[in-house]
Amino acid sequence: MKWQTKEQLVDLLCELVSIPSITGSRAEIALPSFLVDQLSTLPYFQQHPDHVKANPTSDGRFFVTALVKKEGVADTIILVSHFDVVDVEDYGAWKESAFHPKKLTAMFHAHKAEMPTAVQQDMETGNWLFGRGTMDMKCGLALHMAMVEQACHGAFDGNILLLTVPDEEVNSVGMREAVPVLLDIAKQHGLRYRTVLNSEPMFTRYPGDLNKYIYTGSIGKVLPGFLCYGKETHVGEPFAGLNANYMASQLTCELELNTSFCEVVEGEATPPPTNLMQKDLKKEYSVQIPHRAVTLFNLFLLEKQMDDVVEPLLQAARNAAKRITEAHGKQAGQYAAFDPFTPQSMDINVLTYEELMAHAVKVYGTERLERMQADVLANRGAKDDRDMTIALVDELAILCKELSPMIVLFFAPPYYPAVSSRKHPLIQTVVSEMEQYAKEKHDITFRMQNYFGGISDLSYVGLQYPAASLRPLVANMPLWDRGYSIPLQELEEFDVPVLNVGPVGRDAHQWTERLDVDYAFDTLMDMLPVCIQKLFASV
Ligand SMILES: [Zn+2]
Repeated sequence: MKWQTKEQLVDLLCELVSIPSITGSRAEIALPSFLVDQLSTLPYFQQHPDHVKANPTSDGRFFVTALVKKEGVADTIILVSHFDVVDVEDYGAWKESAFHPKKLTAMFHAHKAEMPTAVQQDMETGNWLFGRGTMDMKCGLALHMAMVEQACHGAFDGNILLLTVPDEEVNSVGMREAVPVLLDIAKQHGLRYRTVLNSEPMFTRYPGDLNKYIYTGSIGKVLPGFLCYGKETHVGEPFAGLNANYMASQLTCELELNTSFCEVVEGEATPPPTNLMQKDLKKEYSVQIPHRAVTLFNLFLLEKQMDDVVEPLLQAARNAAKRITEAHGKQAGQYAAFDPFTPQSMDINVLTYEELMAHAVKVYGTERLERMQADVLANRGAKDDRDMTIALVDELAILCKELSPMIVLFFAPPYYPAVSSRKHPLIQTVVSEMEQYAKEKHDITFRMQNYFGGISDLSYVGLQYPAASLRPLVANMPLWDRGYSIPLQELEEFDVPVLNVGPVGRDAHQWTERLDVDYAFDTLMDMLPVCIQKLFASV
């Protein structure tokens, strides 16, 4: 056996980390063939070479599937992971060694006094391995490879299907495109999927959180945006216009950390919305005020449906619009005392992208709109999905400037549906058995969490609500089916319960990212096969 001892697993992990598979990089495209090569060394895959495969995505990347099938058995557990990692700019002077965990860890120990206090404490009390991807989540992938090897030796009462995908950290193209392939594999081999088991690391819920978590779902997320279209003017005559940067800033004031958007389900609360982008859309400096600007917000969801989200967002925009109009009017009135003029009232329209579209169709006709959208899409250049979305809304707003000043609500990709299997009998049984096992065997108290808070690909493993309930999202997402989509039909069909049991790590997406090696390759390495076996054995 090649991936079973702690030493073997640390070496495998270091090898995986040494391939710098940053999302969107060449190494991300290359890593799957390393995995296929590695898996193909196992005798089982030498006998069944067609069971391990690098499957292409539509944008030239690959996700890997590897099926260990037992004769005449349908029950299958999917082990899912992602092999992309976030970039390493945050490592600063240590950047060169970010992908060499053993070297980096030794260097950090040599400079221990310069490390943050919490890191020093960990270094004194545990066995931590530093490096990009050690915790998030190449450790999970290494453990899954170990499970595949065990499955090849007949360790489980069912089939194991390893799935590892790219692009989890950005758009999840890997997982979105994997779902139809998983359905195909099930048909081809007569599989019945019992659970999708992920091994994302535990994320701390607050600084200093030492709890051990097992997750029965994954948080949902949308990316609402507002296009602010004010009125252009020269800086010398500001009251004749409305500055879009001012509008955007008022929207941010309205939404930033606004806890009325938090959702609480069985004592678990979503973090409040926070701004991810706020900028004007002016291309160069001039003394014309910026009259178009955009803001994007991260908004987490648990059980709320899209209908429950759109109205509060519009209300926030209406509140902001009212404040902007009032402030503009007040200052204009005061300025009139210096320089008599009749202030114009700046009433602001608040509407959805869908409403703006309907107006445009009525006034300008479908043909003109389609031409405009085709133009924007054809000039994609280096624009990502956010920039493309903004360009589509911006062009539409420019066309319909008779409605300005206005604030237009839209959604940008990605969209992560919330998923929770806490009410699924199999998951309930296995979680409570694992809690007991962890306590008895390892003296560990698991805390069950309904939603993994770090955003994960488990979101694409089924839909909590009928696909039709996503209509408000689809109708207000300009890029939907024009470069971004989610296989809704397949997701409705797929619908497999989920579970996340992963290693302990700290500081994901930071230069101090680190993995608790003893927990991962002693404790979890013991518990993971037990968990898989229970998922097969329980009813
Ligand atoms: Zn991750």
